[in-house]
Amino acid sequence: MVRSSVLGYPRIGADREWKKALEAFWAGKLEESEFQLQLQEIRLNHLRKQQEKGIDLIPVNDFSYYDHILDTAAMFGIIPQRFAFEGGAVPLSVYYGVARGTKDAAASEMTKWFNTNYHYIVPELSGASPVITENKPLAAYREAKEKLGIQGKPVIVGPFTFLKLSKGYSASEFDTWLHKLLPLYVQILQELAAEGVEWVQIDEPILVTALSDTDIERLKTIYATFANSVPNLNIVLQTYFEAVDRYADIISLPVKGIGLDFVHGLNGNLQSLKAFGFPADKVLGAGVIDGRGIWKASLREKLALLEELTQHVSAEQLLIQTSCSLLHVPVTTARETKLAPELQGALAYADEKLDELALITKAVSSGTAGIAADLDECDRALQDLQQSAARNRSDVQAAVAELRVQQPERSRPFAERHAAQQAKWQLPLFPTTTIGSFPQSAEVRKARQLWRKGEWSHDHYAAFIREQIDLWIKLQEEIGLDVLVHGEFERTDMVEFFGEKLAGFAFTQNGWVQSYGSRCVKPPVIYGDVAFTGEMTVEETKYAQTLTSRPVKGMLTGPITIMNWSFVRDDVAREQIAYQLAYALRQEVEALEQAGIGMIQVDEPAVREGLPLKEEEQAGYLEWAVKAFRIATCTVQETTQIHTHMCYCEFHDMIDSIEAMDADVISIETSRSHGELIHSFELNTYKLGIGLGVYDIHSPRVPGVEEMTSMIERALRVLDPKLFWINPDCGLKTRGLEETVASLRNMVEATHIARATHAACV
Ligand code: GLN
Ligand code: ZN
Repeated sequence: MVRSSVLGYPRIGADREWKKALEAFWAGKLEESEFQLQLQEIRLNHLRKQQEKGIDLIPVNDFSYYDHILDTAAMFGIIPQRFAFEGGAVPLSVYYGVARGTKDAAASEMTKWFNTNYHYIVPELSGASPVITENKPLAAYREAKEKLGIQGKPVIVGPFTFLKLSKGYSASEFDTWLHKLLPLYVQILQELAAEGVEWVQIDEPILVTALSDTDIERLKTIYATFANSVPNLNIVLQTYFEAVDRYADIISLPVKGIGLDFVHGLNGNLQSLKAFGFPADKVLGAGVIDGRGIWKASLREKLALLEELTQHVSAEQLLIQTSCSLLHVPVTTARETKLAPELQGALAYADEKLDELALITKAVSSGTAGIAADLDECDRALQDLQQSAARNRSDVQAAVAELRVQQPERSRPFAERHAAQQAKWQLPLFPTTTIGSFPQSAEVRKARQLWRKGEWSHDHYAAFIREQIDLWIKLQEEIGLDVLVHGEFERTDMVEFFGEKLAGFAFTQNGWVQSYGSRCVKPPVIYGDVAFTGEMTVEETKYAQTLTSRPVKGMLTGPITIMNWSFVRDDVAREQIAYQLAYALRQEVEALEQAGIGMIQVDEPAVREGLPLKEEEQAGYLEWAVKAFRIATCTVQETTQIHTHMCYCEFHDMIDSIEAMDADVISIETSRSHGELIHSFELNTYKLGIGLGVYDIHSPRVPGVEEMTSMIERALRVLDPKLFWINPDCGLKTRGLEETVASLRNMVEATHIARATHAACV
């Protein structure tokens, strides 16, 4: 019998009720018992939905109170010592302490889950003695069975992935740790088997990254141990986000099933399947419904794909699955009421994906006759979007086709531009600037609300924004900064602001996805060809420039960042979308220049996170990402200074690409990765203008002059003083006015000291 299987369901709820419950509990507005009840209700609701849609293998233990990696660590009692955890079940106060910090102990680090925008809490192994604090998957299984009669499929993060994502041990200790954890995993699995669990999903997404021979040996040990200790339990070894590495080795592991991603790893997995076949005694978890995109699947294409798969495995061997957990998509399109019909019709969030799974499973087992109407309707919906005017802008497509074959280049090389810019701008040694945004006070947010609700006219709101600009231009002059900014008061979000002004974007009402903890984001949707429709930032920037004789830097979000922080269409390559965005932004860059703005910053904080998981694809991505940035910025005059900004990522392994962007000046965050970044500049010289952030903007603390002086001195040991700028780590929109002014005053003072120290040497 062909079965459908889901790998995980979103936690947040259709109304983000999960988020609301967590935040109410943290704020002390919800008793723990009531909180537990609310979360249980949400959890059961999600199971019920899957049951009603007829999903055969419904995941349990995919639900979390914060994050599933933190859950796994807590299940094994891996709690950093600073939280004074004394054993037994992990109390919520400790659990949330690790995630969010307490007044006595800093939170654990959080980082991105593979190439998604979901963040997990990094387990800290040092000093831990793993024990089972609670068999969480068992509790989840029992709950589903008792309350709903569901024979759930517990989901567990595999030991190999768990250890690879943990920190606090050295590479040589990997096996020691593995041998500490293995018996605990075995006990968890044995208890599940004893309870009558049939299927367990063990997630090992790390298997899509490069694996060594040693890794393969470790995997053999792990899964042989499980096979020997719990022979009756059917384990599906689940991978996702890319094609599995070392396919032949992985499919030979002694498990009952292997789950592969046939959406994001389609080509690689299909090739391997054809080349190496698939064992007749195993189940193939065929991830054909995209767990990360928001688009309806072409049911016909999916059926054709499954047909192709059944040339290598029998239909009975198939589990028809989502490509990964549905955690990465919003809950239901039923709440979207304001989208263009051709867009609305082509969307599928988590609940609609359940329907898709049910439909294709039905078709595979009993033929397409029963779903003929559904197939037609699906074709029609996808065709409507495909043929929409928004997706067929011949002007944009022709312009981009032309750009693709060109080599976008500034008219002169950096050395010459630098001389021309120095002559024009006459900036002092170590020019000071900021990253763009200034505090978005309660007043600013209130004003925007009033304007959005229509209580304030556009003119009223625009006048308010001008007042903010007046205030901050004055403040910046007083503080003594050299290159000023207007402050970005008119923007809530650096991607949304541009998306709202460009063609090809849509904004959903309820397209929320979990980013980290209770924080949800609602990414814009790029559904059509992206096009410039008119000036976006000129008015405010130009106004700011009228107030001062110092240069005001224009402020744009770069093409790659806009793309990486949006849901994008899947009918064209990401490269193509990036070029369309770049072409649109180029028109804004040119408009700013025309309006007399001589310095323009194009922020690209999200370049690093778009890096493909497969090493062999990374160079190609970086190449077109760099090209997109250059398309956006290359047409200005030599005296126009292009800035860029990057933050909160490990950039040390991509310095060459950053240099290839050919921005005249980059400002880059360093407080979190100072050592590594500085080190990489020892190895490679950086030949363009650069400002390494001299203070972290994440805390209200006002850093002292000496602290910043030492940051500056450390940076100057490896960077050319003639090209060095001084700035904070990132934008200041989350800070308060007073601390911002005080910090910037100290920064300027530290700059004066550095100028006095270094004046003689340059
Ligand atoms: N210009 C933006 C700001 O200052 C940059 C934000 C970012 O890098 N994330 O807010
Ligand atoms: Zn930043």
